[in-house]
Amino acid sequence: MKTKILIIEDNDQNLYLVTFLLENSGFEVVQAKDGPTGVEYASKIKPDLILLDIQLPGMDGYTVAKEIRANPELKNINIVAVTSYAMMGDREQAFAAGCAGYIEKPINPETFISQITKFLPEAKGGVR
Ligand code: MN
Repeated sequence: MKTKILIIEDNDQNLYLVTFLLENSGFEVVQAKDGPTGVEYASKIKPDLILLDIQLPGMDGYTVAKEIRANPELKNINIVAVTSYAMMGDREQAFAAGCAGYIEKPINPETFISQITKFLPEAKGGVR
């Protein structure tokens, strides 16, 4: 079974780039373009990893992370914030909301896969 990654991202260009990079590396990608859909898909699909934008329509990424973290069935799924929301304290806020990692946009296509790989479950090639 392919490793499944849920991307919660409203920007089409970023969504396209991340999807392209992940599919190119053999991952299965599921896309959600707003917060509530992301929360819904997380519990429905139970992906191996969640990549989460912070500025989202419907519900911001911090709230999305908190909602997902509040579901005990999803406790083993890492959430990685992928965002250019460069305000002071946003990294701390992402961790406080339950994110395991933080990747800054713009995404670097050469290092992106290795950046996310370490957040995968051990059985899927992660190192955590
Ligand atoms: Mn956004």
